[in-house]
Amino acid sequence: MDRVLVVPGEELGTEEEYEARGHAHISDYRVLSSAIGIAHFNRSLHVVHVVPVKHHYYPAFNDVVRCVVVSITGRAAIMRCFAVERDDRVEYLKYPVTGIVPSIFSGEHSIDEAVGIGDVVRGRVVSRKGPPFTVSIGGFAFGVVSAMCPRCRGHMRRRGSHLYCPRCGVSVKRKVSILYI
Ligand SMILES: [Zn+2]
Repeated sequence: MDRVLVVPGEELGTEEEYEARGHAHISDYRVLSSAIGIAHFNRSLHVVHVVPVKHHYYPAFNDVVRCVVVSITGRAAIMRCFAVERDDRVEYLKYPVTGIVPSIFSGEHSIDEAVGIGDVVRGRVVSRKGPPFTVSIGGFAFGVVSAMCPRCRGHMRRRGSHLYCPRCGVSVKRKVSILYI
């Protein structure tokens, strides 16, 4: 059984594929979610059941999030956001959500210079809708907070606007947060 975080109005399949249960409904032969929730797909029984999630599991506009970069195109970085900062704590999301950093929100760097795949990034949600959420990493406290060496997987250290690997000497340019660990 697959479980996916869904938002209201999100298409879950067609009426032929699934029976809508829980917080799901049918509109125009399409099965749509009625809530922010977890869609449980049972493909053998042809049932999709949406269970609403409590709102605090979900980032909102202006939240500070922690995310891992999963892919980078020329225009944006795609991330899995796994935690939200609340007061002084980092709360892990039960279900990670997708965040996108468009190049215009990557500070003074182009996006492929700002972050690398696998980096842990601290950013701020700047969209009112999502997922995917639009995330900004502009500002000195935002950007990469932890990174592994692309060659040897060792923990990279911060050196000004660069990261370097004390084990094998690799140095890479990044948009590094002052909170880099
Ligand atoms: Zn290394």
